[in-house]
Amino acid sequence: MPAPLSLVRAVQPGGFARWVGAEVLALVAPPRCAACGEALGAAAERLCGDCRAELPWLRGARCPRCALPAPCGTCPAARAAFARAWAPVAHAGPARALVAQLKFQGVLAAADLMAAQIAAGAPAALLDDATLVPVPTHPARRRARGFDPAERLARALARRAGRPLSRCLRRRGPPARQVGAPRALRRAPGRVEVVARAPAPLRVALVDDVHTTGATLDACARALRRAGTAEVVALTYARALRRAGQRLVG
Ligand SMILES: [Zn+2]
Ligand SMILES: [Zn+2]
Repeated sequence: MPAPLSLVRAVQPGGFARWVGAEVLALVAPPRCAACGEALGAAAERLCGDCRAELPWLRGARCPRCALPAPCGTCPAARAAFARAWAPVAHAGPARALVAQLKFQGVLAAADLMAAQIAAGAPAALLDDATLVPVPTHPARRRARGFDPAERLARALARRAGRPLSRCLRRRGPPARQVGAPRALRRAPGRVEVVARAPAPLRVALVDDVHTTGATLDACARALRRAGTAEVVALTYARALRRAGQRLVG
């Protein structure tokens, strides 16, 4: 499939070569598990048996605001600009590996599998009437990678859920790394600078691979609300869970 002109223009030579390489490899290589890379017997499958069995589904009751298992205690999304959040799996085990395959390798099979699991389980109210908006990657990082992981996931979800997609958000400022940044800085308002093109869609479901602190989702939701969106919800593939002694980042 020829690359769309906009994509050719949008990526650096190095990123484009990597993107073409990954696409060609996907056509000629034998099917492999999208999480662990193990060779698969049947081309129709996306995950090996072990990874399928170990997917950390979030099955119990959950807080509708922050998507953590209920009760969430002091809800981290109590003052968030998004009204609801949901994810099918915890950010652990094969789910974490799938996220890494999408984020760092751009594996399309991983994006489609993640989208299928979101579409199959998401509460209908979160997708009804919603325009899907990917959480934007910083332009510098997008150029370096040659693709945008959240956009790949959002496109796959738009196809599966039959919802429109809008890339109406844009990152501004330096490409701040959330991982490793001091806690105070990560949580400081304005740390993640996002702007929305107006008029923004009336109902928006933000799409990202992982929901960690929710700071990035909140920055996106605030930008959308400023640009006219009436309601914002957040759909992510994985939810990072809080554990004693462990800090959430991102
Ligand atoms: Zn596997
Ligand atoms: Zn909560």
